[in-house]
Amino acid sequence: MKSVVLGLSIAVLATACATTTSPTGRSQRVGAVSQEQLNLMGAQAFAQAKAKTPQSSNPTQTAYVRCVVSAITRQLPSAWQTNWETALFADKSPNAFALPGGKVGVNTGIFTVAKNQDQLAAVIAHEIGHVVSRHHDERVTRQMGAQAGLGILGAIVGSAYGQGAANTTSQLGGMAAQGIFLLPNNRTQETEADVVGQQLMANAGFDPQQAVNLWENMISASGGSGSPQFLSTHPDPRARISELRNRAGALMPAYQQARASGRTPNCG
Ligand SMILES: [Zn+2]
Repeated sequence: MKSVVLGLSIAVLATACATTTSPTGRSQRVGAVSQEQLNLMGAQAFAQAKAKTPQSSNPTQTAYVRCVVSAITRQLPSAWQTNWETALFADKSPNAFALPGGKVGVNTGIFTVAKNQDQLAAVIAHEIGHVVSRHHDERVTRQMGAQAGLGILGAIVGSAYGQGAANTTSQLGGMAAQGIFLLPNNRTQETEADVVGQQLMANAGFDPQQAVNLWENMISASGGSGSPQFLSTHPDPRARISELRNRAGALMPAYQQARASGRTPNCG
């Protein structure tokens, strides 16, 4: 019986993987797990982050971050219009992340480099850019193809048929805990998140040129007392600055149109 189930699972997995086109027109391999399962992994990773790090007790800063997240997520395609949850963590390292399932985590340390709402929008839109470009999906698909045992695959896919749901939850949680979601993105994904994020911020009425200032602040901060954590997962800031500057020029019409249409976020 078990081998029959496993055989079925592998067949399902093989057909579930798909090649799709990313927002910037790149071919990408995704679909080793369903969007629903990715969302579950996102929720688990987010719950772990909340269990590990206390959230800020500053209501003004919390509202500020939520306001920026909400202005950006309103510009997403309808498929991504979930109820985005935001946490502001009391953590001095300048870092932020976004996860499938509509989760955004920002450390209070980000305010040392994101010095106005447009710069904060640049960070958050970049992180959300990773989610809507399905980079987590890509990473999980690659990871499972590379190393996952048949038992894990069987357990995960088995749950699609209502078997071992609890087991699956722990497996997915394990993948989240192993940091698959939090591993550094590759350069292609980084560039894509920059492109998608900067477009998003312009559409939301945030000045896309401030993405350049943000990265300049990151570099300045890294020259001081140790390199920001954000830079360890987002390398090569100087190379991306000139790309961001070039794209900002091309995005000014979109930004101006957003402002003229009343998208004038005033988050603080
Ligand atoms: Zn990134």
